[in-house]
Amino acid sequence: MSDKAQIYAEGLAKLVRVPTVTGVDRKSFAALRKVMAEEFPHVYSECEIIMPGGESSDAIMFKWKGRSSSRPLVLMAHQDVVPAEGEWKYPAFSGTIADGKVWGRGSMDCKNTLYCTIRSVEELIAEGFVPEQDIYLSYSDNEETSGNGARFCRDWLTAHGVKPAVAVDEGGAIVREAFPGMTKPFAMIGIIEKGYCDVKFVARSKGGHSSSPPKDTPFARLAKLVNYCEKHTVFKPHMTPAALAMLKGLSEGLTGVLAFVTKHAGLFTPVIVKVLPKLTPFGAALLGTTMVFTMAQGSSAPNVIPQEASMTANLRFAPGEDSKLAIEKLRRIAEKFDIETHVMECREATPMVDVESADYKYFADTMAKVFPDCGVAPYLIFGGTDCRTMQTITPCALRCTPCKLSPEQLASMHAADENIDISSLVGGVNFFKTYIKGYK
Ligand SMILES: [Zn+2]
Repeated sequence: MSDKAQIYAEGLAKLVRVPTVTGVDRKSFAALRKVMAEEFPHVYSECEIIMPGGESSDAIMFKWKGRSSSRPLVLMAHQDVVPAEGEWKYPAFSGTIADGKVWGRGSMDCKNTLYCTIRSVEELIAEGFVPEQDIYLSYSDNEETSGNGARFCRDWLTAHGVKPAVAVDEGGAIVREAFPGMTKPFAMIGIIEKGYCDVKFVARSKGGHSSSPPKDTPFARLAKLVNYCEKHTVFKPHMTPAALAMLKGLSEGLTGVLAFVTKHAGLFTPVIVKVLPKLTPFGAALLGTTMVFTMAQGSSAPNVIPQEASMTANLRFAPGEDSKLAIEKLRRIAEKFDIETHVMECREATPMVDVESADYKYFADTMAKVFPDCGVAPYLIFGGTDCRTMQTITPCALRCTPCKLSPEQLASMHAADENIDISSLVGGVNFFKTYIKGYK
């Protein structure tokens, strides 16, 4: 292992060893800051340190003064991690370095992003580099619970008259199998996030003892609703500009018919929309609003018919889906089964970054330069990131950690045995240094 790889592995492992489990213990964030101060002395001495949430949040920002303040750049990540459940090959917070990897919760979501961004700044300061523009490192403390850390960071920037030209956060990565049949890894740059909605369906009854049950008890009606939603296409798939841009971008890594069809995705839209959602859940998520039932509640005893039973569904709105119309549609379906519809949380898809813009192109071109063996494509994010908050004050919110991840590593996100290749850290730091150096 090269000296650099060794240093990066040990550096990330130190961050992983601090269990900053989301929403559990604020002391862990203070411990993380201590490790960061030791690990990145140039950042701590050269940059302005900002705690935008004051007493109420452990979000932290660093301002690295550039020659100009006209086009600020914000590099984002989150410090918190999800809890570590299940059986692990190495203890989840041991930060074990083995098999060419760093193991542990947060090693890939997303202390790697935190590490690569702050380490690149650390090295550039040590080399005497002065950035062309002001650069902010912005690290929230509660992304995993959709908390307010990112909001504090954004509001601090707004209050200080900072309007970022570009924000970069986690989201996509460099993945081997972005699409079935890919011939090379692709850097997937998130340019838009799907919408999000939790809907609680409630069925009521008079209740009573379970020994003489009537027909159509609450769970029977809820089951009919679930069944209906599984059998029918409640939300029709459709092509969106984001899906089109992504398919076109990926065509370069495909061969034969797939390459031709994706390259001319506009022309083949009717057949893609018809076939792709049936082939894979990924295709369905790419081209439409998805809905899945995730929670159920009934009475408090096995022999009591519930007076109120509920099931909660989680929806991810496709870009362009009108949330009000979508919920109205669900309400009408639920009514057929004498079920109420309650919206718990709801937001529509974010705006889409212009892939023809100079700022997108510079990011994508840097990716191609640093990783010449990889393709680059825009990407529709199915989940959520802090970046959607920052996106309200910047025209160019890009979501991608420039680290190579295998399918197994992707599957370890929020699961057991989370890990990252040490070589991916070298690539990640290299990317951010190159990106910062050329950012004007
Ligand atoms: Zn994350």
